[in-house]
Amino acid sequence: MKWRSFIIIVIMILAWQANYARQKKYVLVIHGGAGTILKKNMTAEKEAAYRKVLTQALQAGYAVIKDGKKSLDAVETAIRVMEDSPLFNAGKGSVFTNEGKNEMDAAIMDGSNLMAGSVAGVTTIKNPISAARAVMEKSEHVMMTGPGAEKFAKSSGVEIVSPDYFYTPERWEGLKKAKKEDSTKAILDHGNKKSGKLGTINKDYKFGTVGAVALDKAGNLAAGTSTGGMTNKKFGRVGDAPIIGAGTYANNKTVAVSCTGWGEFYIRNVVAYDVSAMIEYGKANLQKAAQTAIDKVGQLGGDGGLIALNVQGEMAMPFNTAGMYRAAITENGEVELLIYK
Ligand code: ASP
Repeated sequence: MKWRSFIIIVIMILAWQANYARQKKYVLVIHGGAGTILKKNMTAEKEAAYRKVLTQALQAGYAVIKDGKKSLDAVETAIRVMEDSPLFNAGKGSVFTNEGKNEMDAAIMDGSNLMAGSVAGVTTIKNPISAARAVMEKSEHVMMTGPGAEKFAKSSGVEIVSPDYFYTPERWEGLKKAKKEDSTKAILDHGNKKSGKLGTINKDYKFGTVGAVALDKAGNLAAGTSTGGMTNKKFGRVGDAPIIGAGTYANNKTVAVSCTGWGEFYIRNVVAYDVSAMIEYGKANLQKAAQTAIDKVGQLGGDGGLIALNVQGEMAMPFNTAGMYRAAITENGEVELLIYK
């Protein structure tokens, strides 16, 4: 009898180990924004272009992890690839404000020590994610805005460009269209349903933000997000991306999170930190915490998605829009890339 129990226990341990080994360990997850991304509106060429840049970003970040470098480096590297592409609403492809400017926000956070850096409302920084990192590593601050952030970025060796660099015809057309809709529609259909307050931004024109979460060989997490914000946003508006805990958060103890969506709702729900808090205090698992956070955004009348990764290499990518550009890679280099629901 004793022997039989022993054998059963051994078998159970082996089965558990085999199952554990089968579980995929993700080391890098990226997103390129959530929104009304429908297959019927997508041409084969456009989809291929998105897939290409997402894959490049993922592979560039993965090479960094494989090299044994920090998750922070992987996050910055992957985001820079997407910032340099006109396809995404970050860096080069940033959307225009109501005044016809490109005002960008970005943040980065180190899960190993809770250090963080962010910039908001910058108009001349080629790669805002690198400026955010400079704020984290080279200043005594967490968040810097506008001309001050630009001055600091320049003195830290971050590349500065003329505001014209961010002009793309597609985004300019997007602003014209959004403005026309605003003036022809007295009441827009995307206000805060609960409070009855009206929004002034068409929900179809706001997505395309980029973000990354990574886990390095040392077991450290990092998260980063970069965005041009929302088309036709008011001068000086700051979204959730650069606000630590709202759009970006990383903590080795819990999770690394990068959000995309209607920023005002993410700020009000403190979404990225909410995912972490549900894990830390509510003992929720990663999937449940990530999904609940998105459900709460939806309940308030907002929409969007997020990516999340923990030190076990488990990931989640929930969203409540028609699509979200998203991709992940395992420690063995297995790629998963999805766009639609
Ligand atoms: N969250 C961003 C913002 O509100 C927009 C986006 O994710 O597309 O600025």
